[in-house]
Amino acid sequence: MSQVMGLKAKLGLNVFKEGGEFHIKIREGKAKDQRLKKAILVCPAGLYSENPDGEVTISVDGCLECGTCLIACGPEVLEWRYPDGGTGVQFRFG
Ligand code: SF4
Repeated sequence: MSQVMGLKAKLGLNVFKEGGEFHIKIREGKAKDQRLKKAILVCPAGLYSENPDGEVTISVDGCLECGTCLIACGPEVLEWRYPDGGTGVQFRFG
């Protein structure tokens, strides 16, 4: 009998090393921009959410550095760069 791991369990295997500034930022004045709402739908780690005021927020802890949010939303609403060397995600495959 095989055991199937769910997405959250798989993501939980990864290790994240903090350091420096956040590598993804919502550009000033863009938290309510409609383009940013796509990030809520496409981020595989579920790091974006919308607060009761209609502003999109991000919690970068757990970021997989896939760049999907930048492609979906565009550089006009997101500042995106890779984390500093030695920090960020370390993938562990289970
Ligand atoms: S880079 Fe990928 S994992 Fe990180 S916030 Fe964007 S979509 Fe989510």
